[in-house]
Amino acid sequence: MNNTDLLSIAERFGSPVYVYDAEKIASQYARLTSAFAAVPHLRINYAMKALSNLSVLRLMHKLGSGLDTVSIQEVQLGLRAGFAPEQIIFTPNGVSMDEIEQAAALGVQLNIDNLSFLEQFGSKHPEVPVCIRINPHVMAGGNSKISVGHIDSKFGISIHQIPHILRIVENTKMHINGIHMHTGSDILDIDVFLYAAEILFEAAQHFKDLRFIDFGSGFKVPYKQGDIQTDIEELGQRLGQRFLEFCDTYGRELTLAFEPGKFLVSEAGYFLVKVNVVKQTTSTVFAGVDTGFNHLIRPMFYGATHFIENLSNPEGKKRFYSVVGYICETDTFASNRQIAEITEGDILCFHNAGAYCYTMASNYNSRLRPAEVLWTGSEAKLIRRAETFEDLVRGQIEVDI
Ligand SMILES: *Cc1c(COP(=O)(O)O)cnc(C)c1O
Repeated sequence: MNNTDLLSIAERFGSPVYVYDAEKIASQYARLTSAFAAVPHLRINYAMKALSNLSVLRLMHKLGSGLDTVSIQEVQLGLRAGFAPEQIIFTPNGVSMDEIEQAAALGVQLNIDNLSFLEQFGSKHPEVPVCIRINPHVMAGGNSKISVGHIDSKFGISIHQIPHILRIVENTKMHINGIHMHTGSDILDIDVFLYAAEILFEAAQHFKDLRFIDFGSGFKVPYKQGDIQTDIEELGQRLGQRFLEFCDTYGRELTLAFEPGKFLVSEAGYFLVKVNVVKQTTSTVFAGVDTGFNHLIRPMFYGATHFIENLSNPEGKKRFYSVVGYICETDTFASNRQIAEITEGDILCFHNAGAYCYTMASNYNSRLRPAEVLWTGSEAKLIRRAETFEDLVRGQIEVDI
């Protein structure tokens, strides 16, 4: 998509507005599947918490993806979008047993991440196969050092508790059809990821009935020029090879699964906003935009850097701006960033706005959430209308005081 396409979308649908490029999503999906082309049984389960619009889910379904879900509502949305229950894996953390029972009743693949629920569920439903989320205590990312410090992470069942898992499996006669890990961080060093994979392979040897091994996600995408990213092609070649060797020793052709969120949708997203005011103070030039951290929380929440460009004046002289939102507390998208000269009314574009942007949006300051548009390559389709005042009051009950 080019600047003209984006500007015409902002004009037609108003600002702020989220835009997703369907072709970019498809090309990321293809990049991942071709990196692992040597693996005969590959499964990509899109982690829908990144971006859960039904039309995006339908696109994923069309591409051949499955879904990774973390709440019963995500499961329901996935079913609504046309996924079959067996294409959905449910990987919750800290939810109630009732919610796990509901997911099981809908027929989705369960991924259990604590011993207590494993025992309870296995005792009650030994016939329902489950996947186990293992915590290998390896964190890929940050630097090339292997960090095993995450012994206190709330996710997964510790690799050191394999004997406990085996005892539960034996006592309940339940079936374990998959094992899973998700290091949850940005993979920079393939060696560190492969090291974690070895731990998972070792754990896998203990389970005789596996159908798949799920390596989670953590693929790093570039957020600004010069950013390093996970070398998917190298990962595909090396992990793919090692996986096939493992299957040989294990004695069965298993499915290799991944559950990327960011990798599939981050770069496909653009957030278009309008500059309300250019405010020169004694030290800083602020560009105040018609949005805030209620719509895009990542900079304030994670310290994330989103590349920002001025679509209205792309060739303008670069000047330093602090781009700030309208929320009545610190609400900074960028500090002293070089951006082509900004005039009030200009349309700015935030890049990498596909993942964890709309899904984390709120109505804080009683603001309305923006529209979402899917760009199919030739056509801009509205896939969620902007909220109206009615949406803010819907569900509220005004009692007599
Ligand atoms: C959030 C999440 C993912 C996706 O992570 P990304 O960094 O967006 O790829 C995958 N698996 C699980 C279990 C998750 O919670």
